Order: sequence, then C-alpha cells, then structure tokens
Amino acid sequence: MVPMRFPLGTSAARMTAAPLLLVDLETKEGVVGRSYLFCYRESGARAIAEVMKEAAGLIDGMPVAPAGLGELLGRRYALLGVTGVVRMALAAIDIASWDALAVAANMPLATFLGGSLEPIRAYNSDGLGMMSAKEAADEAVKLLEPGFDAVKLRLGHPNPATDLDVTKAVRAAIGESVELMVDYNQALTVPDAIRRGLDLRDMNIYWLEEQIRHNDLQGYAAIASELTTPIQLGENLDGPEAVYDAVAAKAADYLMLDVARIGGVSGWLRGAAIAAARGVPVSSHLFPEISVHLLAATPTVHWLEYTSWADSILEEPLQISNGYLTPPNKPGLGLQWSKEGIERCRAD
Ligand SMILES: [Mg+2]
Repeated sequence: MVPMRFPLGTSAARMTAAPLLLVDLETKEGVVGRSYLFCYRESGARAIAEVMKEAAGLIDGMPVAPAGLGELLGRRYALLGVTGVVRMALAAIDIASWDALAVAANMPLATFLGGSLEPIRAYNSDGLGMMSAKEAADEAVKLLEPGFDAVKLRLGHPNPATDLDVTKAVRAAIGESVELMVDYNQALTVPDAIRRGLDLRDMNIYWLEEQIRHNDLQGYAAIASELTTPIQLGENLDGPEAVYDAVAAKAADYLMLDVARIGGVSGWLRGAAIAAARGVPVSSHLFPEISVHLLAATPTVHWLEYTSWADSILEEPLQISNGYLTPPNKPGLGLQWSKEGIERCRAD
C-alpha cells in the first residue's frame, strides 16, 4: 500500500494509497522478468495474487513464450472468465515474460518491440481529483512544477455548475498554453454528458474522458456526434477484442489502453494494431514505467499518463524532462525494486 503524494478522489472512489502488486518471474537461466499491477483496492491485490500463484504453477518449467502461454492460460481460465481479476493476473505474467525476454536480449523493451528510445509527451495525472475550485486551481499549478505542460482534471460533481466553476478556476490558474484533459470516470448519462460537454466548449479542453458507462459504445458515439471536443475512452477496454468493438462503433476520437486490462504486452500490441488500422491515436492509462516502452512501439502514439505512484518502490523512478518521458536505456522495462521502499509499504 504505497502512500500517494496527491490523494485522488474521482467520481467513483477516493484513494490515499496505491495497492501495488509486484511480480518477479524467475527463469531457470537466472533471468528475472518483472512487472507490477495497480490493483485499485487492497482486496483486489490479494485476489489477483491468489489467481497469479495458481497460474504460475500451470506454466512452471515452460519456455518463456508469451503468445503460447497466453493461449494456454486463457483456455484454463475460460470458464471462470478472463476479465477483471483474472485478466489482470494473466497480464502481469505476460508483462513479466516479455520483460524477461528483453532482459535476456539485453535490450530495452521499447527497442525489443521495434520502437526507439524517443521522448513521449506526458500529462501529469497525479492529483486533481474531485475538489473545490480553489483547491483544484492550486493543485493544478503544483502538478506543472516537474516541467509538465498538461494535466488532467476529474469532474462529475453532482451539480453541473460545480464542474464548470472548477474548470474555469483551473484554466485561469494554468493559462491557455497548458493542455487540460477532463475525466468523468463514468459518472454521467448520455444527455448529461452532452450538456456538460457543451458547457465546457469554450474552455479549450483537450479531451473529455469516460463520461458514461465504459462499455456503452453507442452512447459514446451519440455524445461524439454532438460535441466538437474530442472524446477519450479505453482504460476499461477488456482485451484487444474490445478495442475492435470501440473502433468499429466510432465510439471515441482517441483511445487509451491499460496494459493490465488489455492483456499485458501481448494484448497491447494487438490493441494498438487495431487502433492503428483506423488511424486512432493511442494513449496509455497508468503504469507509466511499462507504458512508456509500449507507446514507443505504438504506431499512433499519442499521450502518456504520468503518475508517481510506483516511485517509492523503485530504485530509479522515471525521469521527467520538459513534460516528456523516454524509455530508460536499460535491459527490459528497467524495473529495479527498492528493498527499503517495499519494506516501508508492505501490506502483509
Ligand atoms: Mg480515466
């Protein structure tokens, strides 16, 4: 349970500590592949760990070949359902497998996947939860301090007028040149989303994110047809097949992939290919240390969502330079656990 520098209240839940689950995949050759998951709730971390232990037993001794391992585990868990807790457990194994391969090849995962170590534009998503106009304005300015020129604000207050007041205060505090994204975390109905989108039309909003239930693709298409501000969704897309459905439904202008829900590195590559086939820009959701490598290999790379949540359990946290992040030039993902940080945050 890693304390968060900026507690985050969304329209769905309020968090002050990030439940992270760390994974080491050890091979007979002595190569260690690593991954981590952000589990939303502590109970989620415990449930995912339970599934992961069993899944690890099913592949013990097999070659590190993520495509085949994914097929095998997908079959074993098909009747329970490869979604939610199971999806995240299998994704963590997939990510650690790819990390082990890239470590063995002595290449950063980004270049192992065919990308390059180029800087990727990032927005600071550390804070700016649901809060008063004054608090949001002050926090937005703080979030620019590490050099960012883009931030994301959570909205979906019960009263639409509050959303507008908070947005105006943040825009006034950060100025016109800073990009401002807005996330509703599925709080609204279709008519309400259209109304609130129109309310914000003069606020130079970069994207409006997840206004309604994440899988109401027709609802999103209806909203998109009424608004000129681009629509963003995707953190809840469950596997590459869901990316296909979202693209086919023209549900959003932009898509963001979550490496855990999309099915690890393997799922990301397939999802990114589907988005690229229709030229849809792809951003990342959380996991900046992993996402930075995946975006580097994504044809329609757009924005990286930055959070500092894993910083205190890492020996070398990601470095931000003028609002950009670059995949570290180290083997694999470059994740090295900080023993001291882990001891401080252990939940068991
Ligand atoms: Mg979101």
